[in-house]
Amino acid sequence: MAVSSGVVARYRAVRERVDAACRQAGRDPSEVELLPVSKTKPVELVRELHAAGVRTFGENKVQEAVAKHQQTADLPDLRWSVIGHLQTNKARDVARVAAEFQALDSVKVAAALERRLQAEGRGLDVYLQVNSSGEESKFGLPPEEVPALARELAAFSSLRVVGLMTLAAPSPEEAVVRACFERVRAVQQVLRDDDRAAGSYDRLSMGMSGDYELAIACGSTCVRVGTAIFGERPPQNDYAHYWPEGPSTS
Ligand SMILES: *Cc1c(COP(=O)(O)O)cnc(C)c1O
Repeated sequence: MAVSSGVVARYRAVRERVDAACRQAGRDPSEVELLPVSKTKPVELVRELHAAGVRTFGENKVQEAVAKHQQTADLPDLRWSVIGHLQTNKARDVARVAAEFQALDSVKVAAALERRLQAEGRGLDVYLQVNSSGEESKFGLPPEEVPALARELAAFSSLRVVGLMTLAAPSPEEAVVRACFERVRAVQQVLRDDDRAAGSYDRLSMGMSGDYELAIACGSTCVRVGTAIFGERPPQNDYAHYWPEGPSTS
């Protein structure tokens, strides 16, 4: 076995902080999934974490998920969660390699996924991505448009809607970040009260390296953590790593 990179120790340290944040919020730590985001990082680190018992990894670009899926085909029970924006021409790849897709934000993408999933004979867990930060991001649906999509998804039997996902505004101000998370919770409540919304809305994927403790205080059930586990990514590309096609220029 190769020399340890320290990634397992960092994963465990983050997991401890997640557990502590849960206790602080009066929540059961088993309610919150820690999803390590391995984007831009070598597959050897995924192997180290897998050997330590970690089974699900997040990637925000489909191409990278496909490559890593192939490079880790020998690892039992490994699951890939695609957490970034999807274009319809990549739906086939997601249908083939992903166990979960967290960034559904249009009927068009849902229809493309449904067609490919039918062909593969598979189902897929999906989160609807909510744009909770306004103009900071061009991905995700504005909160008021989410219920209409949730209703249309009733037509797609291969998609299992499990919850909502968001990226909070990249703000140093806690109140600004908290307001993003609270917008998502408000949408969750609307969907729970809507009999025609497809799926269940028990899961909230909110929180990253810089804001996961706050996200847990605000009800997150899945924190997507890259940097705090895998180390820094090249800074000049960082924005593009959250929003693969670049930030909104509105
Ligand atoms: C990169 C990324 C993350 C992880 O970000 P860190 O700040 O490195 O923890 C979470 N969610 C999405 C959608 C990402 O693209």
